Formats: sequence, structure tokens, C-alpha cells
Amino acid sequence: MNTVKIYQLTTLSPTQFRRLRDAQMEAAQVWNCCMEAHKSARLTHEKWPGRNALQKVTKGRFALHSQSVQMVVHAFLANVETTRQLRKTSPHMKMRYPYKEKRFYPVMWPAQAVSREQGRVVLPMGKGRKSLVLPLDLLETSRSCTLVWQNGYELHVCVEIPQADNAPGHVHATVDLGEIHLAAVTTNTGKAMIVTGRGIRSLKRQRNQQLGKIAKKQARCQKYSRRWKKFQRAKNKHCRRAERRIRNQRHQATRKVLNFCVENEVGSLFIGNPHGVRTRNNGKHHNQRMALWEYGKDIDYLTHKSKQAHMSSFTGSERGTSSQCPSCGHKHKPRNRQWNCKQCGFKGHRDLVGSVNMHRLAFGEQVEFPRSFTYLRPSPLGKVGGGQTRPNVV
Ligand SMILES: [Zn+2]
Repeated sequence: MNTVKIYQLTTLSPTQFRRLRDAQMEAAQVWNCCMEAHKSARLTHEKWPGRNALQKVTKGRFALHSQSVQMVVHAFLANVETTRQLRKTSPHMKMRYPYKEKRFYPVMWPAQAVSREQGRVVLPMGKGRKSLVLPLDLLETSRSCTLVWQNGYELHVCVEIPQADNAPGHVHATVDLGEIHLAAVTTNTGKAMIVTGRGIRSLKRQRNQQLGKIAKKQARCQKYSRRWKKFQRAKNKHCRRAERRIRNQRHQATRKVLNFCVENEVGSLFIGNPHGVRTRNNGKHHNQRMALWEYGKDIDYLTHKSKQAHMSSFTGSERGTSSQCPSCGHKHKPRNRQWNCKQCGFKGHRDLVGSVNMHRLAFGEQVEFPRSFTYLRPSPLGKVGGGQTRPNVV
């Protein structure tokens, strides 16, 4: 099974930086070349160029390794194919085929092109050109590499990781994703856990405040002046740091969910998709908060990690699960963290209610509301905490 390991390229000399930049611009030219060929075929109603035609057009014209050029072609064709599918299945999205000129594009090297040496990695740039040499100690199981810009250069390396041979057990579990609580998990054996997302929220708020401060100062400078560039660099640095921290917390939080599932012998995991909740228009403040909530990443991370643990996972709409009483089915919107049923007097933690109700949706079984649950933070300091167990009725 593969995963991606990210290496930050922070100690680049100006020459190296320029070379990486040029490589990305060259890759963008390959993309633009494909795009033009495809566009003209579309406009003249000719047969769309396939892999062979595009490879012929791009061959030997660009200052990149031949396989890097091929990988851009493959990525382009994959993009066209996805667009074609989406236009068929959801026409309301009005997807367009590639039409914009790109200035930069990630440069990719397949596994056989990359050579790993002690303390450095050599990325070929094609015959007669100097290879890119980066001072990185890659893992032994490293495969293909991609050069990506994310407020600074990064090398994304595909790495092979071991996968569990068997599923941990046959227990069913559901995950309710939230903004304040990142994930609430319940099993059909009466176990429950909540991981908070407050850390991520405060990191985001902090980042936005800092960026706002810099942007205010930057607005007073002339665009692209020296001072302006200085502020731009500072902005990139803040963004980058915040992103790293948030990513780290997200990984830790989803790892805790998976550890909980493995401990409780879960074999099948349902992840509720809050899509309907987010797309509804609920006013400016609520909408902005929802836009900052990246549940898609949570779903991705959970899916990937459960695959590694040999657990089957699936997603589906969670519509209405958090506003229904798990004991009598009475519907009402909870006001605070505690769910109080007006009809039968049921009391319980609000975030668990959604997760418990999902069992009916996903597995067609009614589970009892857990008596207690474990409350965890994604531990920003890297501490391994056991978490507290809290009684359910406060
Ligand atoms: Zn009730």
C-alpha cells in the first residue's frame, strides 16, 4: 500500500530555487501544449488526441526528463476523463475541459527515474542537462517523486507502507465528523470516543489573524516592491507553518480514531458525510465557519488509515442523524453540547447522538446509547495521552 511522505525544501540556494521554478514552468508548458492540442480538436470537431498523439506532440520539445513529460500528459488525460465523467453524471456542475494557460505545474518523476543516494536524491532533467540534486535522505521504500509548491517547495515522495493482513474484528462503528468535535465514534458494542477539533480551529483563527495583520501592512506598499515582497515571504512562511501544524493535528486526531477502532475490533467503519450540512445557506457567519471546516480531508485521512488497518470503510449522507432522539425518535435541534429530549427525557452528549443514529442508516441496526465515552485531544505537543473517560450524563 502506498502513502505520500512530504519533505520540505527549506534550504535551497538561489540557483537551486531558480532551477526548480524553471522546471515547474517547463512542466506547465507541457500542459499548455496538451491543452492547445485538445482545445483545437474540440473546436474543429476532430478526434480528440489520445495518449499516443499527445506524446508525439510533446516529445523532445521540453527541458525535462522524458518520463516527467509523459507524466504530465497522463495527468492531463486523466483530467479530461474526469471532466467527461462529471459532465455526464452531474451536468449542473458545468465542468469545463482544460482551457486555461498554466504558469506552473508540479514536476513528476516515476520510480525508475529517481535515484536515491546516501543523503541525497538525484532527479534527472533529461539528456544533456544537469540533474537536480536535493539534500534529502529518502526512505528505502521510496517510489515516485513530485515537486510541489505549497507556499514554498516540497518534494512529495510516494512511499510503500505495510498493510495489516486481517481486519481487527467484526464490530461495526460509525464516525460523526464535526467542527468543534473532530470525530465522534461509537461501536455497536457500546464503546464511544470523541476527539475534539478545538485545536485546529484555534490554529486557523490564529493564522487568519496573523495574515490579516501582514496584509494590512502590505496594502500600504507598492505592489511587487521590495517591501511588498518581504511581506509576501512572511505571509508564505506563516501559511506554511500553520498548514503543517494543522495537518499534523489532523493526522493525530484521525490516528486516534483508528487506534480506538483497532482496539475495539472494528471490521467495518461508516463515515458520515456532512455534505448537506455545509452546502445549505445559513447566513454569513455560519457559512464562513463551514467553509473553513475541511471535512473532506478528515474523510480522506480516515479512509486511508482504515485501509491500512484492513478495515472496510464507506461513506454516506448523515442527513438528520444529529437532530433525532436515539431513544424515542423525537426530532428537535439541540441548542448546546447536551442533548435533552423533551418527549422521553433522554439525556446525552450531543455529538454522540449523531454517531449512534448513523448505525441505523449504515448497518440497519439500533444500538444502545453508550454509558460513557473517552474524550481525547489530538495532543499538539506530541504527548501520548490516555484521555479522560467521562460519564455521559453531566
Ligand atoms: Zn426521546
